[in-house]
Formats: sequence, C-alpha cells, structure tokens
Amino acid sequence: MLGESIGPVLRDLAHAGLVAPRFADDDWAGADDRASCMMWGADGSGSGLAVARGAALAERVADAADQVQEWVIEDQLWGSGRTNWPPCPSHPDNHPLQAAVVGAGAVWTCPADRSVVRPVGEP
Ligand SMILES: [Zn+2]
Repeated sequence: MLGESIGPVLRDLAHAGLVAPRFADDDWAGADDRASCMMWGADGSGSGLAVARGAALAERVADAADQVQEWVIEDQLWGSGRTNWPPCPSHPDNHPLQAAVVGAGAVWTCPADRSVVRPVGEP
C-alpha cells in the first residue's frame, strides 16, 4: 500500500541525486482508513506520511509525492539556497512543481499555469 504509493516519488528523488528519507514502519495515524509511516532524516528529524487506503493509486501517489516533496525541501534543501524541488522547467526560479491527479495518473504540474510537466516517477 505505502510502497506502491511512495515508489514513484522515490524514483524522482533518485534521478535528482537527492537522498531519500529512511522510512520506518510506524502506523502513527492509527486509523483504519489511512496507511501511515514515518520519514526520518539524517539529522534525526521525523515527519509523518499518510495516504488514504481507499483512494485510487494515482491519488495516493500524488499525495505521497506531496508529502515527500515537503520533507525533501525541509530536510534536504533548506539552507542550501535551493528550495524548489522538483524545479518547474518554465519557472525554475519561482516555484517547485506540484503533484496532482490529472486523468488517471499522478503528475507534476506547474502551479502557475497548471500545465502538466511529467508523470510522477518518470524522468
Ligand atoms: Zn511553473
């Protein structure tokens, strides 16, 4: 459940040469309708990640991508002067891409013009 939801954004991280969080099997949400785990950074800071069990795969992938993106920006890029991951190809200095569901797929979109840049997990 979580593996298939998180897998695509982890491929994006690997392509970008960024370090992935360490995922710990910790069902902190404790809810029947949400699958959850913890993401731990090298500095010992943790963030929770949760996706809705009943949601379609594309929704879970986009939701997980959004939460992993937040972790990456805070844990990996904060202080590096780079906070836009994944960078928007049209506006690389302005904003990162935003995960969304378009049609039946999870995609990275430009938050300014709503254009679809690429599917989550594909280079
Ligand atoms: Zn943009």
